[in-house]
Amino acid sequence: MDMTLADPQTGTGDRAPKPIMAGARRPAAHAAVYAFVLVPLLALAAAVPLAWGWGLTWTDVALTAAMYTMTCLGVTVGFHRYFTHGAFKAGRIMRITLAVAGTLAVQGPILHWVADHRRHHAFSDREGDPHSPWAYGTSPAALARGFWHAHLGWVLDPKLTNQERFAPDLLADRDMRLVHRLFGPLTMVTLAVPALVGGLVTWSWWGAVTAFFWAGLVRVALLHHVTWSVNSVCHIWGDRPFASRDRSANFWPLAILSMGESWHNLHHADPTSARHGVRRGEIDVSARLIWVFEKLGWVHSVRWPTPERLARLAASAPATGGTPPA
Ligand SMILES: [Zn+2]
Ligand SMILES: [Zn+2]
Repeated sequence: MDMTLADPQTGTGDRAPKPIMAGARRPAAHAAVYAFVLVPLLALAAAVPLAWGWGLTWTDVALTAAMYTMTCLGVTVGFHRYFTHGAFKAGRIMRITLAVAGTLAVQGPILHWVADHRRHHAFSDREGDPHSPWAYGTSPAALARGFWHAHLGWVLDPKLTNQERFAPDLLADRDMRLVHRLFGPLTMVTLAVPALVGGLVTWSWWGAVTAFFWAGLVRVALLHHVTWSVNSVCHIWGDRPFASRDRSANFWPLAILSMGESWHNLHHADPTSARHGVRRGEIDVSARLIWVFEKLGWVHSVRWPTPERLARLAASAPATGGTPPA
């Protein structure tokens, strides 16, 4: 067990967020985290066979998958890798497309999203981080409270991140200010489109209702929880093969649903990298889409990780691997 307080990048404890140990979590805390993540999802999954045939059809399933994929990639490729971290460059049409696709995920207007997330990287797991599960300490009770805060509680905080400090580039862009202001109307669109398509395909009002429910509401909620899990789960447990100054971890069970974002340890170790799943078998759908865009000539100057850089980041990781730097 690594009990050192040293910051792995500076070799000193000066910049460590809190003088806390990286000791093992107790079973109660483990159980609480599992319960928060799994119980609502299991309840939703249990509703699927109950509703099948009368309140859920293949049309709903296809629409849900399509809307989920499009809006998830809008967030991961657009809001996150492009707008927040500049992992590649794009022209105006692609820029607006990505901004709109991300907005359709209903995770807040783009300026708020990007400013919050840049603040997260600036202070990850320290004072100032908008959503660290370690904000209240390491005891089971503190971690349960921290999990809630990191997952959803922070969203309910009415205070806003300073956009002039954290997103001046987007503030200076007329297109982005417009997409930001259109958050309300685009939220209507993201819920109305599945209802409209479902209604037209089945030529029934009921088809519109079930498509609205599954491909509208359930899809938005599922993506919310997957995205929030990157903030909560991926800062609590998983593998830490690369050196980062926080408790970010690679959590493989969410790799597909998060489209590569749950390879979160590499992301904090190398935030501008266009690829987060860098090791063998680490599926990263978002990186694959960026690769396709690059081949089509729609984006350029992509920051792909090099083997040398990855070797350097891995070499300075804590020797204990699974033990987070305190
Ligand atoms: Zn993070
Ligand atoms: Zn990030």
